[in-house]
Amino acid sequence: MKPHDGMYIDGDWRPAAGSGTIDVVNPADEQVFATVPAGTADDVDAAVRAARAAFRGWAATPPAERAARIAALRDVLAARSEEIAETVTAELGAPLAFSRAVHAGLPVAVAGSYAELAAAHPFEERIGNSTVLHEPVGVVGAITPWNYPLHQIVAKVAPALAAGCTVVLKPAEDTPLVAQLFAEAVHEAGLPAGVFNLVTGLGPVAGQALAAHEDVDLVSFTGSTAVGRQIAATAGAAVKRVALELGGKSANVVLPGADLAKAVNVGVANVMSNTGQTCSAWTRMLVHRERYEEAVALAVTAAAKYVPGERIGPVVNARQHERVLGYIAKGVEEGARLVAGGTEVPRTRGYWVSPTVFADVTAEMTIAQEEIFGPVLSILAYEDEEDALRIANGTVYGLAGAVWAGDDAAAVAFARRMDTGQVDINGGRFNPLAPFGGYKQSGVGRELGPHGLTEYLQTKSLQF
Ligand code: NAD
Repeated sequence: MKPHDGMYIDGDWRPAAGSGTIDVVNPADEQVFATVPAGTADDVDAAVRAARAAFRGWAATPPAERAARIAALRDVLAARSEEIAETVTAELGAPLAFSRAVHAGLPVAVAGSYAELAAAHPFEERIGNSTVLHEPVGVVGAITPWNYPLHQIVAKVAPALAAGCTVVLKPAEDTPLVAQLFAEAVHEAGLPAGVFNLVTGLGPVAGQALAAHEDVDLVSFTGSTAVGRQIAATAGAAVKRVALELGGKSANVVLPGADLAKAVNVGVANVMSNTGQTCSAWTRMLVHRERYEEAVALAVTAAAKYVPGERIGPVVNARQHERVLGYIAKGVEEGARLVAGGTEVPRTRGYWVSPTVFADVTAEMTIAQEEIFGPVLSILAYEDEEDALRIANGTVYGLAGAVWAGDDAAAVAFARRMDTGQVDINGGRFNPLAPFGGYKQSGVGRELGPHGLTEYLQTKSLQF
């Protein structure tokens, strides 16, 4: 696609209010290959006005018709999937095969799920002598990150549109092109003007203006806990609803009796996928002391398959590169045993990191507590189930996790005691309809499926 030099507002591409631009860099080779406009508070204001003007009409559109528009959007995304994959590979650095399967494929599935849910959702119910109406919240400000750039856009915009809300999107500065491509798809799908609007720009400028705008009714944010906290405070001051999908430090708990090779192989793949830039990644592997060394050896073999440039891409930008290498150095400094990878970079040009595995990690080490957001796995030993549970629950986060045991019942029993939003049992498949979101500092609210739709609704009771 050809980058746009304006904002998509009220159904058209308009010149930006200011003259600032943002460079788009290919993380594989550090080349600037495009620029997009850096939005200002004026652009955000124009976009919010357009969304407000379109709101009543879209909210009053019958759900079946909204569903038909979302289905059309899904079809455009499916038809343009190769272009989407190539765009994400250029701006995020993910290998093309991964971009095709996940970065282009998942948004089609999620948009499709909301085409169905929009048509089927019970927007009215009768409770005693009341009719309860589930009405759209209003204008949504969506602020998204770069790690699954199109998925995170669709996981907010599709349910918001299904609910009858209108949207202003501020995508991550590292991955604005796929957001522009999404705006083109919205246009092609024939959504009414103003229902979806796009403002590219910097977080502290355009993002902050959107979160603070008095005519935005709900802010839905995915990104770091630090920024999420700031957005919640800004929104709280205006008594505005917020949905926050933040960081994680999820535990992959391998209980005695589990298929160790499978648990370790799937666990390593889970961490290395998308170069470790997945908020729900199982970055802490917990193994019983008796089988600990066996697990470490298996993890080293598994990590060796993630050859940079083939199965694993670079990290997104210079800041993340420095941050991830800093965490690896910290792991060594705090006494963890480096068994794969390290701070030596596989290529000098681009933001490459070697797939890294640490053994002898203890629960209080920085690399066991903080989100690294790179291809770094920490393996911890536990003494018994209570110890494993204490370690698994012993961070400020609670986004995801996994439990492996000899049978599903034993794994489920353990998972019930975990303080986290999603747990995969013995390698259970990802379910795009299951609620996704965090306990504790991993966030507020849920995305995906019917639970994701209700985030964008408010209720009104009529007694008669
Ligand atoms: P970030 O939180 O700074 O950025 C996410 C989004 O928020 C971007 O669109 C950004 O422009 C916007 N933003 C930034 N400051 C803002 C502000 N003051 N007001 C409003 N919007 C603002 O994330 P990052 O700097 O790109 O990454 C830093 C760390 O965040 C990563 O290392 C990782 O730990 C975490 N992260 C988590 C997720 C996730 O899915 N949970 C995604 C990306 C990053």
